Amino acid sequence: MSKRVGVIGAGTAGLHLGLYLRQHGIDVTMVTDRAPADYRHMRLLNTVAHHAVTIEREEKLGGNHWPDDGYFGHHYYIGTQPQALRFYGDLHAPSRAVDYRIYQPRLMLDFLERGGVIEYREVKADDLPAISERFDVLIVCTGKGSLGPLFQHEPAHSPFDRPQRALCVGLFKGISEPPVRAVTMYFSPGAGEMIEIPTLTFSGMAAALVIENIPGGDLEILAKTKYDDDPRAFLDQLLAKLRRHYPTCAERIDEDEFDLANGPLDILQGGVTPTVRKSHVVLDNGKLAISLGDVQAVVDPVLGQGANMASYAGWITAEEIVRHDVFDERFVEHVNLRRQDRVLAATRWTNFMLTNLRTMPVELQQFIGRLSQDRALADTFTDNFNYPERQWDCFASLERMQAWCERHAKPAGKAVMQGALAS
Ligand SMILES: Cc1cc2nc3c(=O)[nH]c(=O)nc-3n(C[C@H](O)[C@H](O)[C@H](O)COP(=O)(O)OP(=O)(O)OC[C@H]3O[C@@H](n4cnc5c(N)ncnc54)[C@H](O)[C@@H]3O)c2cc1C
Repeated sequence: MSKRVGVIGAGTAGLHLGLYLRQHGIDVTMVTDRAPADYRHMRLLNTVAHHAVTIEREEKLGGNHWPDDGYFGHHYYIGTQPQALRFYGDLHAPSRAVDYRIYQPRLMLDFLERGGVIEYREVKADDLPAISERFDVLIVCTGKGSLGPLFQHEPAHSPFDRPQRALCVGLFKGISEPPVRAVTMYFSPGAGEMIEIPTLTFSGMAAALVIENIPGGDLEILAKTKYDDDPRAFLDQLLAKLRRHYPTCAERIDEDEFDLANGPLDILQGGVTPTVRKSHVVLDNGKLAISLGDVQAVVDPVLGQGANMASYAGWITAEEIVRHDVFDERFVEHVNLRRQDRVLAATRWTNFMLTNLRTMPVELQQFIGRLSQDRALADTFTDNFNYPERQWDCFASLERMQAWCERHAKPAGKAVMQGALAS
């Protein structure tokens, strides 16, 4: 049976879905608001790291154009002193970050080369019934934009009504790379977190700084001060905050060279309200529209999960489209059963960390202490950024955190988190 699939939005969810369907000979039409040529002159969209599990999917989809630009693990720095607690964990295979203004248009071209069709226009909610008439199934993956609220908010999985961090995110030059190419995660308890990601940009490798600032804390100002108003004043303020909160990053900065990597569009400020929405909506004409990617579940970027889960959910949705001939509520049930563990686990783990990193309860301090003393634990924790359901298996309760340490510790390190359990 020939199937016609409509996809609204050509982001990571839509592109991975579309490329999979084209590999299986299915007709796919994407409707999206930007053409490949538009991306070069846009403001930074985000700073996305794809983990190895996502890169494996790209490989299978013929969309891994950057096989040698990955990084190998995570450095962790906890505390604001130069002698902060520090440790390192390895990934089983490299993760990789490419500026999405390069990545997404490249995959759009792949999709077009493989017979996919793209229509360029902004879609409004009122347009959906007419669009849905043209297809057997309609998938909505327009990211954090305006179509999300069409899908009912799920309060049980959406504990926050506002962003939990004020974000200041940019691509920077003048920061020397550590000897092993890796992400560095910095924690300044009470003020926020910073993730430094080696990223392929329009001018080669640069450092993405994802500065996650606790509202009301000392770093929040970074999300409000505008680079464009006075670039030098912005950079001076940023350097001062880095010296105070993230000195191990500041010490690798050449202050004469430090600036946005490719000009004033390389910065993004704002916040994300973590939200889970229903998997589908019945349109006025009785047809279904299915939510995918950020439309279904959007998380704060602190743990780098959003695009990875969007890709995973895109792949699962595509597999189910291939398997089914009827796209009804039963179809949605199949998609959901397969995608929801990863999507919900990534959501819960990210929300747990947003809350607990803020106050650093003793249990989390002790858990981090264990990671810092046992490389086997640090490696497993780091590699599990690939598998958020395994992270949530660990963090869902104190008992689980302890059991996880026992199971994954190298034999000599199997001490009990007694203090944590007694408190
Ligand atoms: C600062 C930051 C850092 C991040 N870091 C990471 C990370 O390290 N790892 C990670 O996995 N995730 C990360 N994310 C999250 C990631 O960016 C998103 O989860 C991911 O892009 C979601 O994919 P998507 O396909 O759902 O949406 P998007 O990638 O946002 O794509 C949406 C598509 O829809 C189109 N569109 C939007 N509105 C309309 C409309 N009305 N009509 C037609 N087309 C429309 C857009 O042009 C685009 O093509 C980060 C996010 C931010 C903000």
